[in-house]
Amino acid sequence: MATIELRKLVKSYGKTDVIHGIDLGIKDGEFVVLVGPSGCGKSTTLRMIAGLEEISGGEIRIGDQVVNDMDPKARNIAMVFQNYAIYPHMSVRQNIAFGLYTSKLPKAEKDKRVEEAGAILGLTPYLDRRPAALSGGQRQRVAIGRAMVRDPSAFLFDEPLSNLDAQLRAQMRIEIKRLHQRLGTTIVYVTHDQVEAMTMADRIVVMKDGHILQAGSPLELYESP
Ligand code: ADP
Ligand code: ADP
Repeated sequence: MATIELRKLVKSYGKTDVIHGIDLGIKDGEFVVLVGPSGCGKSTTLRMIAGLEEISGGEIRIGDQVVNDMDPKARNIAMVFQNYAIYPHMSVRQNIAFGLYTSKLPKAEKDKRVEEAGAILGLTPYLDRRPAALSGGQRQRVAIGRAMVRDPSAFLFDEPLSNLDAQLRAQMRIEIKRLHQRLGTTIVYVTHDQVEAMTMADRIVVMKDGHILQAGSPLELYESP
């Protein structure tokens, strides 16, 4: 588990600033949802935390370490994307195990982690099947499983449910929330869906034009004018 701290974080593309010095402290085990209109900088912020995007100014801390120049792999943070890459020629088990593809862990430990992730995500009956036999929600769970086996100290979710139909979205909201309660891992979750934010977040952070407009619990934001 890990705290994540953003201090005066800036991102520029050429001469254009898209993140204007944001400050945000995320507690160990907290479920923070970043919301805001398209283009406000949610995804860029997430990618900077993951180390997939260089920062232009300020500081990012994970735990007690400044990670500004740290390699993404050394950050021990797992990203779950909207367009999950699932390999059709591999079984569900192999797709999940791919998260440990370059890991030096012993095979027995890798196998154990894949079994555990499968069990937690309700995929045990499907482990030896091909992804073609899976529903959209199950595929999304495979993508989460691939991140889980890395035993990350935090999960970053970038619009993970936006490709799913309404019914599956509702189900996956509950499942991701339950997963968080079970693992207790810090989560930063990007969405433009108000319902996801209100039902899943410990704290909602509202962004606009590269700034943080407001932050608070769902109840606090709901009651604010
Ligand atoms: P959101 O995730 O909230 O929709 P983004 O973080 O994707 O927003 O984008 C924030 C801003 O940065 C937008 O104005 C977008 O056009 C701009 N942007 C994102 N990526 C690039 C890039 N590679 N080059 C230039 N501008 C970019
Ligand atoms: P490399 O990228 O050099 O192959 P990695 O160990 O970082 O080595 O990644 C191995 C595989 O694990 C990747 O190809 C990818 O499918 C998956 N993976 C890597 N990073 C993540 C992550 N943050 N979250 C989930 N899966 C990941």
